[in-house]
Amino acid sequence: MIRLAVISGKGGTGKTMITAALSRLLKGTLVLADCDVDAANLELVISPHLIRKEPFFGMKSAFIDPVACVKCTECEAHCRFDAVDWVRNTFRVNTFRCEGCAVCMFVCPVKAVAMQPRQTGEILYSETSRGHLVHARLVPGAGNSGLLVHAVKKMAMEQDRACDLFLIDGPPGTGCPLISTISGVDAVLVVTEPSVSGLHDLKRVVTVCRQFRPRIFVAVNRYDLDPALTKDILEYCCEEKIALVGTIPFDHAVIEAVRAGIPVTDAGASPATQSIQILAAKLEWELTNLDNNR
Ligand code: SF4
Ligand code: SF4
Repeated sequence: MIRLAVISGKGGTGKTMITAALSRLLKGTLVLADCDVDAANLELVISPHLIRKEPFFGMKSAFIDPVACVKCTECEAHCRFDAVDWVRNTFRVNTFRCEGCAVCMFVCPVKAVAMQPRQTGEILYSETSRGHLVHARLVPGAGNSGLLVHAVKKMAMEQDRACDLFLIDGPPGTGCPLISTISGVDAVLVVTEPSVSGLHDLKRVVTVCRQFRPRIFVAVNRYDLDPALTKDILEYCCEEKIALVGTIPFDHAVIEAVRAGIPVTDAGASPATQSIQILAAKLEWELTNLDNNR
């Protein structure tokens, strides 16, 4: 199995649109994972059919037993996250602010505080026309998205380990969810765009990826919106010996496809579809080589 993550240094580059199109175009059996758990929207363009879901418990949260509490205020005074509130004559923990450090439990003189698992999301296992999709929903305001990404990847690998390709829609940025996404993958496709922040964030995400040693590929979306910056991206890829596998033009067909909730490649012929088909063919060739040389 080849594990490929589609990522981007910043949001809004068209990463999910390209992942959805690749899920249609890349050959072989595949399993999909949406690791952009903070804004999971791959399901909006590939219409999965839910098979089952299970709760996800992230970090623990403090819970104060109001009967045992003697209202000494120690927990409130020691909580550095201002997560202990005085509500209706009793101390309560605000789970949105609680960071699970357990300091309150240690300072409580009467052991009225316990650390309890908190459900911070759910993991969904669905069926699509191209294979299974593992995706997730993080409770708004909940942390630990890196842990949830790890859980999503684990479920996909365990359920569909015989597949040819594990295709991941990764998160934007360079934080914990990205690191959790790219650890253990064979290749990443970084989707960028010709803007100052696009190039800046491309460099940042490549720096992070280098630590994990996957093969790195780059695709430039909407490349025709700023030819000068696209040239800068190409030069950067050249200097860094990164394979540029695709350039996709700005195309209203993409906007229409997103509105219709389908991959652009399902919407018929268009300049974007044609470019993504070329991108998929190049990527297929590179991934086959990668597989043969392992
Ligand atoms: S576990 Fe830490 S963050 Fe949460 S309420 Fe206790 S002291 Fe505050
Ligand atoms: S430290 Fe314990 S006893 Fe004191 S207010 Fe907090 S929960 Fe209540």
